[in-house]
Amino acid sequence: MIELNEEQRMILDTVRGMAREKIRPRAAEIDEKQEFPWDTVKLYTENGLLTPLLPEKYGGIGAEYLLFCMIIEEIAKVCASSALILIAQADGMLPILMGGSDELKERLLPGFAAGRLAAFAATEPGAGSDALSMKTRAAREGDHYVINGQKCFTTNGSVADVISLYTYTDPERKFKGLTAFAVEKGSKGLSYGKNENKMGMRGSINSELFFDDMIVPVENRIGEEGEGAVNMMAALNTSRAFAAAQAVGLAQGAIDEAVSYAKQRVQFGRPIARLQGIQFMLADMAANTEAARLLTYQAAKYLDRGEHRRIPGACAMAKFIASDTAMKVTTDAVQVMGGSGYMKDFPLERMMRDAKLIQIYTGTNQIMRLVTARELLKE
Ligand SMILES: Cc1cc2nc3c(=O)[nH]c(=O)nc-3n(C[C@H](O)[C@H](O)[C@H](O)COP(=O)(O)OP(=O)(O)OC[C@H]3O[C@@H](n4cnc5c(N)ncnc54)[C@H](O)[C@@H]3O)c2cc1C
Repeated sequence: MIELNEEQRMILDTVRGMAREKIRPRAAEIDEKQEFPWDTVKLYTENGLLTPLLPEKYGGIGAEYLLFCMIIEEIAKVCASSALILIAQADGMLPILMGGSDELKERLLPGFAAGRLAAFAATEPGAGSDALSMKTRAAREGDHYVINGQKCFTTNGSVADVISLYTYTDPERKFKGLTAFAVEKGSKGLSYGKNENKMGMRGSINSELFFDDMIVPVENRIGEEGEGAVNMMAALNTSRAFAAAQAVGLAQGAIDEAVSYAKQRVQFGRPIARLQGIQFMLADMAANTEAARLLTYQAAKYLDRGEHRRIPGACAMAKFIASDTAMKVTTDAVQVMGGSGYMKDFPLERMMRDAKLIQIYTGTNQIMRLVTARELLKE
């Protein structure tokens, strides 16, 4: 299904080597210490991988969505948190690339390739699945906006140099009253609450953000007033494809661990890999992961081709199938390893905890099913 050119193959080989040699050895430690891996951010920056989707004129490599998904997959095989840093970077950067003025793009985008971090902030304590019920408001005063409100769970939140922020400029107009802003670190009135203590993906940061009469210049508005919801939905579609790729990588990483263990672990006088009960589990894990991978690549291809009618449904389907698969596969991989799978000496219990998050973020899997059904039933 997938034919890669020489350059794409070289990029993936580099990522695979980097994941194996540099990212994998750090995975357990950043999980245990709940440590944001600045060394990995540096590694991404040095290897041109912090913003592969960014066009070359802004310092990126102009990667296709498909290639970016494959990069995420390779990294997630060994460390889902490290893959999440790249996803959050893309989630924060793409709203500006897709909707920002030329001036805003020229001013902010090159920094993302050079090591500055981005974040995407829509969720609020009272507005999760129902994102349009958000309470954050922006009011224009001359050459700037005054923003009041708060966001929560924002990935990369307190470490981001630029946050793509969604707020109402005209709440009466609902969908058409939402506006996006690029909020820079150090903005007057921006403060940070707690960084969350999480079950999984503990090497990534999720923060509370507070806006108290925060001043944002008009030039930092992303697009026009009222264009925020369309921008947000577009960013969520891409984010769902990235989350699907992360889930596929996680599932594949778990299969690799389980297969290697099953070949070595001897019970009843032979490796457990020779037991049909174990083989059936491994076969289901492999088949379901491959199916999720193909759905994910298909969604990425629709994104690359700009097939707007197919994108929302394809990205939603890929996201819920891949993350449900990752949850099942990582749980079964723990089972294949028996008691050892439950221990922190092996990576599988971490993978199982990490998989759970992908069923929740960038739209829960219930919401993904609603989106899929809506597309299916559309006249
Ligand atoms: C670690 C982490 C990182 C995140 N990163 C970001 C980020 O970077 N930026 C950002 O903006 N947000 C982020 N989020 C927020 C995330 O997208 C939301 O948590 C998610 O959309 C669900 O919202 P909620 O948590 O408020 O759950 P709720 O919306 O309260 O949902 C609770 C339950 O009700 C179900 N439910 C809700 N509505 C329906 C419905 N209509 N039909 C059926 N079931 C329904 C849900 O599926 C869920 O099971 C992150 C969240 C987490 C946990």
